[in-house]
Order: sequence, then C-alpha cells, then structure tokens
Amino acid sequence: MGSIQKIETRLFINGKVGVLFTSSQGTHHTLHEASEEDTDAAVAAAKAAFPSWSALGPDQRGVYMKKLAALLHASYKELSELEAMSMGRPVSTYFDNHACASTFEHYAEAGYEAQGVSSLNTPGFVNMTFKQPYGVVAAIIPWNLPLVFFGNKVAPALAAGNTVVLKSSEKAPLSSAYAATLVEKAGFPPGVINVISGHGQTSGAILSSHMDVRALSFTGSCRTGRLIQAAAAKSNLKNVILELGGKSPAVVFSDCDLETAVTDTQNSIEWNSGQVCMANSRIYVEESIADKFVERFKAKAASISAGDPLDPATTHGPQADAAQWDTVQKYLEMGKTSGNLAMGGTTNVAGGAKGYFIEPSIFLRTPEDAVIMKEEIFGPVVNINTFKTEEEVIAKANDSEFGLYAAVYTTDINRAMRFAKALEAGTVGVNCTSPTLAKDMPFGGYKSSGSGREGLGHSLNNFLETKTVLIKINQ
Ligand code: NAD
Repeated sequence: MGSIQKIETRLFINGKVGVLFTSSQGTHHTLHEASEEDTDAAVAAAKAAFPSWSALGPDQRGVYMKKLAALLHASYKELSELEAMSMGRPVSTYFDNHACASTFEHYAEAGYEAQGVSSLNTPGFVNMTFKQPYGVVAAIIPWNLPLVFFGNKVAPALAAGNTVVLKSSEKAPLSSAYAATLVEKAGFPPGVINVISGHGQTSGAILSSHMDVRALSFTGSCRTGRLIQAAAAKSNLKNVILELGGKSPAVVFSDCDLETAVTDTQNSIEWNSGQVCMANSRIYVEESIADKFVERFKAKAASISAGDPLDPATTHGPQADAAQWDTVQKYLEMGKTSGNLAMGGTTNVAGGAKGYFIEPSIFLRTPEDAVIMKEEIFGPVVNINTFKTEEEVIAKANDSEFGLYAAVYTTDINRAMRFAKALEAGTVGVNCTSPTLAKDMPFGGYKSSGSGREGLGHSLNNFLETKTVLIKINQ
C-alpha cells in the first residue's frame, strides 16, 4: 500500500463532493456510483454554469485551467499510487498527471483559436461564421490511461466555452475523483467541471441519451462506442467523437534496423501490460529475417520485471481486474488451438508475483482468420506472422475491421511512402510504432476504430458549433 492516507471516492457535482463517504477494508474501497438522479444533477449543474462560463474570455477561463495544471503537476505521487492501486499500473511508468497538466496548459492559451471566417463573395452581403460552444459536453473515459483522457477531453471542451460532465471508468475511478478535488482547489466556478463515477449502465447510458448533452467525447471499446452512437441517434443526435479499439499491424522488412524494430514492437505490445488501444498486436516480419526477429523479441519479452505496481522496480503490472484477466485467458486458450504458442500463455510471470498477471505471450504463424488475429485482446499477447511480398502483407495488414495505428520498418523511402499511403489506419508510423505519437497531429481511427480526431490544434473544433451569419447591406 502506498502513502495515500485518505481516498476520495465521492461524486463531484456543482462544485461539491457528494454525501456518501469512503469505507475501506484493507485495500478495498467502496465507491459512490452515480445514480440516474446524480447524473441528471451533474448535467443540470453544468447547464446552469454554462452561461457565465461561456461569457468569459479565453484568458479568463485559462486562469483556472493553469491553476489546475499546476496542481496536477504537483500530484504525481498521489495520482500514480491511486492508479497503481486501482488498475495495477506500475508507478515506474506513470506520466499521466503531467500529460493531463500540459494539455490544460495548452488549452489555457488556445481558446483564442476559436475563429470563424468572413466572406464578401455574395454580392450585397457581408457573411461570416461564428464558432460557439455547444453547452453541456459529456466525456466518458476508459481505465487504461484515465487522466490522459481527462485532459484530452475536458481541457478543449472548457477552452471552447462548454461546461463538462466527465464519467470515469468503474475500473479506475480514483484518479479522476482525486482530480476533482484539484478542480475544487483551483477554484473553478461550481458546475463547470462535474466528475462522476459509475458503470456504463446507469450513468454512461444516461449521458449518451441525455437531451441536455449536446456533444459527447468517448474513448473506449468499439462495442460501447456503437451503443453510445445509437443512444445519441435515438435521443438528440448529439455530436459524438469516438476513439475506439485497435488491432494494429507492424510490418518489418529485412532492410530495416532490426534491433530498433524488435525493441519498438516489443515495447508496443508490452507497455501497460498490453492494455493500450494502439498496441501492435499483429507483427508481420519478412520471411528471410523471421527467425532472427523472433529470437530477439523473445529475449526482450523475457526481460520484464513483474510485481507490485507500487514498487518502483516493477515494469510489468497485472491486468486491470479479474474480468480483464479472464478475457485474456480466454483468448490465450483460443490461441493455443489456432496458432503456435512460442512463449508465455500462462499466468506465471518471472519472480512469481501473485495477482492478475499474464506472462508476455507470443503466437507464431497464426492463420489470418483466427479469432486472436481479428479481435482486440488487450493484454501482452502478440501474433508474429511472416510474409514474402509487399502486396501480400498490405492485404493482410488491412484485412481488419480496426484501423487505429499501423507501422512499417524499412530503410527504402519509396517503400515507406507506398505503405504510408496504403495502410488503412488513422496513424502510420515509419520506422517507429505505437505508442509513438505527436501532440499536434490528429489522432483517431479509420473504419471501426472510431470517428473524429483529437490532438492539440484539432480537438477544439470537436466542441464548437459553426453558425453562419448573413448580413444584407443596403446598396
Ligand atoms: P469500455 O468501452 O468497456 O468502457 C469505456 C467507458 O465506457 C467506461 O467509462 C464505461 O463505464 C463506459 N460505458 C460502458 N458501457 C456504456 C454504455 N452503455 N453507455 C455509455 N458508457 C458506457 O472500454 P474499456 O474496457 O474501459 O477500455 C478499453 C477499450 O478502450 C479498448 O477497446 C481500447 O482499445 C479502447 N481505447 C481506445 C483509445 C483510443 O484513443 N482510440 C484509447 C484507450 C483505450
């Protein structure tokens, strides 16, 4: 157990925490789950706070956001320990509070980028567009990097002048609840940011179909994304931004820097114990170097340090919870019947750590139509297949309903550009793979991996309506 003395488990609505307080038994904590009434109250508080928040200038809104950023930066210890305790994230890999803070810092200044256009192209008129906030925005986030998504959604929504209700994941609510205490300390007007916890049913579903929520930004699974999109369509057709799952391919040619390709692709599927949307869970290696690649990949995968996520020496934590562990087990069993297990496949991690651990697992030469090649596993489980030609591997890499991230390793610039163009993914890495991103580049999915894009310089528009104003001039 870390150094946290008192854990915040209450809802944060209209600038106040809820009445139910924490009860804890050992490392188990009872959390307040938002009811239908709580969720409605959070939306009502956000709606009431909207007129005065949207009337502020961007720099005035920025003052609060900068204060929150400073508090987030200062809370590394508390937030890293809370995430370790709730979903097993090793503190040694924690950066989310700083990422969240820097997003708030950026958007504290970026509100001025909400700009319309003007046009004199219609004779007798001066025409223009206004960019205006929607009103109440909902944010629904997953458990794998909660505060990163808190920042990615709440900061641009606020900078654009909206007020927000954020629902954290039932698997990792503690860091968001703690961040709500920082919102209070930063002095935000009541109702501008409301933070609730709870399962998809009740609170998530209510937000998705709420008539007073005009935009909803979601990060999570494709299954839930579909439910949210349908609920939005059936209610008020709110603007929905969806950042969903992946089954990302990495293609490795024999002319690449092999050491870099092995290190990067192994890190991609290992980081956060494989619980990353863009993790390269399908690796295609050119036949001529396949044996060398697999041998080095296995050596890297064996060098993890599994154990208590609160121990700074740990690099490999457990899966988030029993449900996640069960899911990965189910896929491992399926994989054993369809592919060739070359490493792992068990829960016996090096050092004998106890908990929901999964050993880094490698399947070789799995048939392309096997379930473990098609579905997102969300664990440290990778398929390494081989190829002979460019045409063959492009077809295989693209034969997926997902399209979040793809990578190619080669020193041939022409081939790199052919692949950058042909790969069906929202982001393509050339001689790099996920989680490599660029803050100011749009991030999002092709195909069922989502709709809409997030990123500095891109997210503000997700939270702004465009109004055309036509002004007739007397001649
Ligand atoms: P999930 O879809 O199970 O849950 C995400 C959130 O949705 C949670 O807060 C949950 O309570 C809520 N929810 C569940 N049912 C709902 C409903 N009916 N209505 C409204 N909300 C509902 O996903 P998860 O297991 O928390 O996260 C893992 C998934 O997220 C993976 O598929 C991963 O690929 C994806 N993900 C995507 C990105 C991205 O940027 N594209 C980033 C991280 C994770």
